[in-house]
Amino acid sequence: MSITRREFIKWSGAAGFAAAAMSLGFDLKPIESYSAGLNILKAKETISICPYCAVGCGVIVQAKSNGTILNIEGDPDHPINEGALCAKGAGLYQMTVNRSRLKNVLYRSPQGDDWEEVEWDWALNKIASNIKKTRDATFALKNDKGEVVNRTTAIAHIGSAALDNEECWLLQAIMRAMGLVYIEHQARI
Ligand code: SF4
Repeated sequence: MSITRREFIKWSGAAGFAAAAMSLGFDLKPIESYSAGLNILKAKETISICPYCAVGCGVIVQAKSNGTILNIEGDPDHPINEGALCAKGAGLYQMTVNRSRLKNVLYRSPQGDDWEEVEWDWALNKIASNIKKTRDATFALKNDKGEVVNRTTAIAHIGSAALDNEECWLLQAIMRAMGLVYIEHQARI
């Protein structure tokens, strides 16, 4: 077997790193998936993150080419959970593939007791117009002491553990620009 100088340096560097890491107590042996034997024919594997909480466990999603999900399990190569999932994460398949799962927007009018199915565009426009109406009616330029505050305390935002850094940045920028001060995260509640 011939080996180039560049390959020799690359491999000796990798071996040196592995030896140094193992001497520090890191176990670099590949971890075997519990479902290594569950090799679903023609299923495409995609790695993802459990959407439930801020631990951020890694999962492997196996799906058919048409997108139908066949199996979801913990990712043994993920540094946070190393293949394990708590009861909620272990139930991800049932959350995703579930006849009871809502796929359309339901709207209940104020004082109403019936839910009606509405279009996404209608719902998004309704949310936007309600936010604008409330903000315009409650926006305060100054507080009782005459200090500039530029805020509304009539709208709150609750974020999600499933948001990534970029989404959090975007949401913070939008919420602060609208004058919101009650910006919270479900993991703290
Ligand atoms: S599997 Fe459990 S601990 Fe891990 S992210 Fe999901 S909910 Fe959180």
